[in-house]
Amino acid sequence: PPSAEKYEYQAEVSRLMDLIVNSLYSNKEVFLRELISNASDALDKLRFLSVTEPQLLKDAAADLDIRIQTDKDNGIISITDTGIGMTRQELVDCLGTIAQSGTAKFLKAVKESKESGSDSNLIGQFGVGFYSAFLVAERVVVSTKSPKSDKQYVWEGEANSSSYSIREETDPDKLIPRGTRLTLYLKNDDKGFAHPERIQKLVTNYSQFVSFPIYTWQEKGYTKEVEVDEDPAEAKQEGEDDKAERKKKTKKVIEKYWDWELTNETQPIWLRNPREVSTEEYNEFYRKTFNEYLDPLASSHFTTEGEVEFRSILYVPAASSMGKDDLANPKTKNIRLYVKRVFISDDFDGELFPRYLSFVKGVVDSNDLPLNVSREILQESRIVRIMRKRLVRKAFDMILGISLSENREDYEKFWDNYGKYLKLGCIEDRENHKRIGPLLRFFSSQSEHDMISLDEYVENMKPEQKDIYYVAADSVTSAKNAPFLEKLLEKDLEVLLLVDPIDEVAIQNLKSYKEKNFVDISKEDLDLGDKDEEKEKVTKQEFGQTCDWMKKRLGDKVASVQISNRLSSSPCVLVSGKFGWSANMERLMKAQTV
Ligand code: ADP
Ligand code: MG
Repeated sequence: PPSAEKYEYQAEVSRLMDLIVNSLYSNKEVFLRELISNASDALDKLRFLSVTEPQLLKDAAADLDIRIQTDKDNGIISITDTGIGMTRQELVDCLGTIAQSGTAKFLKAVKESKESGSDSNLIGQFGVGFYSAFLVAERVVVSTKSPKSDKQYVWEGEANSSSYSIREETDPDKLIPRGTRLTLYLKNDDKGFAHPERIQKLVTNYSQFVSFPIYTWQEKGYTKEVEVDEDPAEAKQEGEDDKAERKKKTKKVIEKYWDWELTNETQPIWLRNPREVSTEEYNEFYRKTFNEYLDPLASSHFTTEGEVEFRSILYVPAASSMGKDDLANPKTKNIRLYVKRVFISDDFDGELFPRYLSFVKGVVDSNDLPLNVSREILQESRIVRIMRKRLVRKAFDMILGISLSENREDYEKFWDNYGKYLKLGCIEDRENHKRIGPLLRFFSSQSEHDMISLDEYVENMKPEQKDIYYVAADSVTSAKNAPFLEKLLEKDLEVLLLVDPIDEVAIQNLKSYKEKNFVDISKEDLDLGDKDEEKEKVTKQEFGQTCDWMKKRLGDKVASVQISNRLSSSPCVLVSGKFGWSANMERLMKAQTV
């Protein structure tokens, strides 16, 4: 048989191998994700080519799939795909040099990062593709057959070597019709990866939604009834007649065997046509994916095409799983990011959603991002900026959907859980004020028990009323008793009662709704459009000296003492200056600084 030929790695590969082999990277399991994604790529390439060359599939008939077999006793994992395979030259080009940009970027980053040696974190950030096999393996054998070649070749490399070898496959038992088989001989410390259950778990975690079937080799069992011989002692006691009729005794045993088991869903639910997916299916996917017990309040499944292409399913959880602190620093793992159906990470919520929408859960699958996408890449990416915009828009549509539902309780539940978040949105996301506004709810002087929307308020405005009135207080009762309210109640003008500490700041940020300004009725220049100049003149003359006297007595405690027409039964009221803090804000600020 032709003997193996030895090759030296390109210098960069040697360096990369060194880094990987000596890295203390703790997240070694990413090797499986990388290798499965290579297998999936190879299948994609073949599928793509076979569109124009259908004989590619016929000549070497085999289903398009990925099979992972483990030998836990010897610490061996083999990953076989029926994809495009590699020719001898491709083996040299692909596995001996660094062509792909992700790995090149990784090396560049290592170079730039001052700490020379193995910067293990970078491996996770950039992904090191095929070479990640050496995170766990001391020897890797790649046996591959391309439809472009009539021979099958074997590439072999070891963890601590600057060279690899290529030979022809001659063992007839090892011939494959098409594709690639990777065999990993695991390092002593990493032999645990060769447990069938471990592999199964990793596959479900990382590659559940690769669009080709992934089979893992699993031990199974079925119960079987076997006849057992009669116990001779027992037989003796029975009469001769009984013996003839006696039923044969059986016993149940478990028969063990090994077989391939489909380990992933081949058709991710988000790739399906939304019209063909039932609510129950969306909910089940949600419960399974996010380990939730309750069904979501709403879901939204959509595809965007054009400038950027991605698919997504978003959910509003029925209950907020986050504590108060989470809002300040959400580490929610609520958004699972996939690139071309390969699970990338659930750590990028902050890149894909603003903080105030961090309660939204879902999956996002992009076709435009690189597989080895990192936070740094996401933060700089124009694609991600567009994605983020669309995701936010869709999240608002979904929430608006709840608010428009027949069932008012649904939105009450939503508001109870997430009202604070949307108010935070008023403060942090000017750009989306138009979307947040219709979702806000407040008590009002005319609705103390059921909150109303701003639309309901506007509808209820008097024909001559220009502004939206509000007053902030620490409870509905104290708001209702505020003397500022008297005149407005008398005139039957509705006033929003802001009783949540964040309300006032939120409203001040919002400034207006449907071109109507929010007006704090506790401020000094409140104009209800009912000034009677004549009467005012007379009153001012009559009480001017009283005012001066009071100002003198109160001194610096007040800015001024004025005649006002805004009360109907109370003799006087303390109001805030036009540009000062409202009494409520003052109270809040005090509470914060104490
Ligand atoms: P990337 O997948 O980003 O290109 P990798 O280091 O993962 O980088 O793989 C390098 C190259 O090796 C791939 O581009 C591909 O050409 C080849 N390759 C790796 N695995 C396979 C496989 N299972 N079948 C065919 N080609 C493969
Ligand atoms: Mg790859």
